[in-house]
Amino acid sequence: MRLILMGPPGAGKGTQASRVAEQFGIPAISTGDIFRENVSKGTELGVKAGEYMDAGEYVPDDLTNLMVRNRIDEDDATPGFLLDGYPRTLAQVEELDGMIKFTGHQLDAVVVLTVDPEELVQRLLQRAETDGRSDDTEDVVRRRQEVYAEQTEPLIDVYRDRGLLHEVDGMGEVDEVTKRIFAALSDVDPS
Ligand code: AMP
Repeated sequence: MRLILMGPPGAGKGTQASRVAEQFGIPAISTGDIFRENVSKGTELGVKAGEYMDAGEYVPDDLTNLMVRNRIDEDDATPGFLLDGYPRTLAQVEELDGMIKFTGHQLDAVVVLTVDPEELVQRLLQRAETDGRSDDTEDVVRRRQEVYAEQTEPLIDVYRDRGLLHEVDGMGEVDEVTKRIFAALSDVDPS
């Protein structure tokens, strides 16, 4: 099963990604988590990525694509994967198409979580207090939303045109949202 979970910052992608991945027995691959791990270890990638992340901007495509390519080459991703936070640009969509084609498989479904924009800012500011993420300040949160609207929202139409899109209401209790995602994916046959 090869899945993408999309949604604006604060839509609850991370939480849902782990649940969905567990259900399908595939790894949840979060580009944000991999970047953060690199930042905290002080790797070369982390030093480069950290500057963009703290400003609420996207890390350049070449760095991001290479990182995802290496990750999905790992053994645990052979049966499939759930991508959380990738692709986020049209160039990443193309790159991912190439990566999947190379393995002889295809993308099975794209889930997009829809959440009210004001609720999103509130959720992110709350997360800033509990998790202390350096990119959860109000200015950066708003910038991340702008970048999502400019660069990532266009991907929704791309995947809708391919017949892969499942829009899921991301508002409400976490368990409810998980149920909605499972229901949306219940008729998907893995390639
Ligand atoms: P996330 O945890 O998914 O919200 O990602 C945190 C930050 O990591 C984003 O604001 C970006 O700076 C960076 N990032 C994560 N995924 C990508 C991606 N696919 N393309 C570019 N930057 C990314």
